[in-house]
Amino acid sequence: MKKYIVVYLEPVPLNVEGIIRSRLPPEFELRVRMGSETVEDVLPNADFFLVATTPLPASIFERSNHLRLIQHQGVGYNKTDVRAAAARGIPVAICPAGTSIGVAEHVFLLILSLYKKLLIADLSVRHGEWLQWELRPDSFEIYGKTVGIIGLGRIGKEVALRSRIFGASLMYYDIQRADKETEKCLNVQFVPVEECLARADILTLHLPLTRATYHFISSKELACMKPSAVLINTSRGPLVDEAALVEALKTGALAGAGLDVFEDEPPAKDNPLFQLNNVVLTPHISAGTADALVAKMDACFTNMLRVSRGEPPIDIVIE
Ligand code: NAD
Repeated sequence: MKKYIVVYLEPVPLNVEGIIRSRLPPEFELRVRMGSETVEDVLPNADFFLVATTPLPASIFERSNHLRLIQHQGVGYNKTDVRAAAARGIPVAICPAGTSIGVAEHVFLLILSLYKKLLIADLSVRHGEWLQWELRPDSFEIYGKTVGIIGLGRIGKEVALRSRIFGASLMYYDIQRADKETEKCLNVQFVPVEECLARADILTLHLPLTRATYHFISSKELACMKPSAVLINTSRGPLVDEAALVEALKTGALAGAGLDVFEDEPPAKDNPLFQLNNVVLTPHISAGTADALVAKMDACFTNMLRVSRGEPPIDIVIE
């Protein structure tokens, strides 16, 4: 029996490929795109694309003849031209499974790293410096702080749950207000965006990147925030105007920033953020834990199996 060909579009190292292969159903054959190949090179034989960050512009779909599904392994799909795919009858699906917890935990990694000056503390100990009294009065607790969540979707809700355990008070802004039951369960207060910016000690972004959310945080919004506040972005880099953020961090208009995402990824070697010691930076890893990869692959392959049986896929995005 002919096997369906799944092309994994990210040129990943062998250990990652091993995890993906270990979850592959027998109905499928897996090909992992090599760094030397373009998407066009691997397109002709593919039945399914499994994608994380590789861009899929309209030109790809013009050439595709038998792609049955574009399956994203995460929930951000801003690099895929969903309309162009739809015009060729190719559905695009996201994978909420395995995504939210890793990101929510990462938010607290970034907050605590900023609050406890983790990078400076670690380096100083290694270099034989003992900055005990320098760092103690410049470190903070999440307990008692006000967390502002922008975007109370899947990840925002997981962040809300964890903020409660730390003893923070919670407010959120979302274009779509949550129902009363959700607000009560999570103990979150809906506020207008201006209030969220002005009152937050910790502001964390959990929005998709769309035309409406591009530079959602720019100099105007940063000017509304407390100088003692920290900004956390684990969503998409272009939600924040990075030049404006650097300026606010340099001038003391904002105390710190924890970023897992950047306007350009990877950022240029001379990115001014690298000169600042009030930032903590990670390379877009928040959802990509080993634990999550297994959960994601199981969910992604299950969706492809559905399509191979002639059933409609789930978690389809429509634009
Ligand atoms: P979600 O769709 O469940 O939630 C997004 C929320 O944003 C929704 O409640 C929606 O109503 C709200 N929203 C949309 N547009 C808005 C606007 N203009 N103003 C205010 N609110 C708006 O998505 P999610 O699963 O919580 O993920 C959020 C984002 O996190 C994703 O879109 C993705 O880009 C990013 N992400 C990043 C990583 C990573 O590895 N760093 C991993 C997963 C997701």
